[in-house]
Amino acid sequence: MIRVSPDAWSVIERHLERAYPKEGCGILLGTDDGGNRDALVAIPCRNAYEGEQQDRFQLDPEEQLAAERRARELGLSVVAIFHSHPDCDAYFSSTDLKYSCPWYSNIVVSVQAGCVVHAKAFLANFDQTESHPDDLVHNYAQDSYSDAAASVRR
Ligand SMILES: [Zn+2]
Repeated sequence: MIRVSPDAWSVIERHLERAYPKEGCGILLGTDDGGNRDALVAIPCRNAYEGEQQDRFQLDPEEQLAAERRARELGLSVVAIFHSHPDCDAYFSSTDLKYSCPWYSNIVVSVQAGCVVHAKAFLANFDQTESHPDDLVHNYAQDSYSDAAASVRR
């Protein structure tokens, strides 16, 4: 399961709606207690794919390294990658699977006519040949924050 804090979720929505009609992407930092992940900080990234970006994205390796550095500074780790599907459903495509990181949760957000409508999370196996849904929670109440979330928000 992956829970995304309300703050992080609003950063994701803003970034992906701004990227529309191109695919937007980014990295989530948080805690991982061995299966249950809490995403607390969203880092919007540029789409580094050199080609039509309506249905492809690629993270910038330098931004990935910067996100890992930021995670260490905050005492967190990279827990998920997110990207959008403009005017398309939130499914995990064969391209997504091929370029996925098996050790992260992968959040796909459907952006229709410029607005975020729904999202799903997926986990890939280590061969990147199969994926299965990961439970995604992003609308839980603000007061259910963990202590880690509270300390990051300060
Ligand atoms: Zn995709």
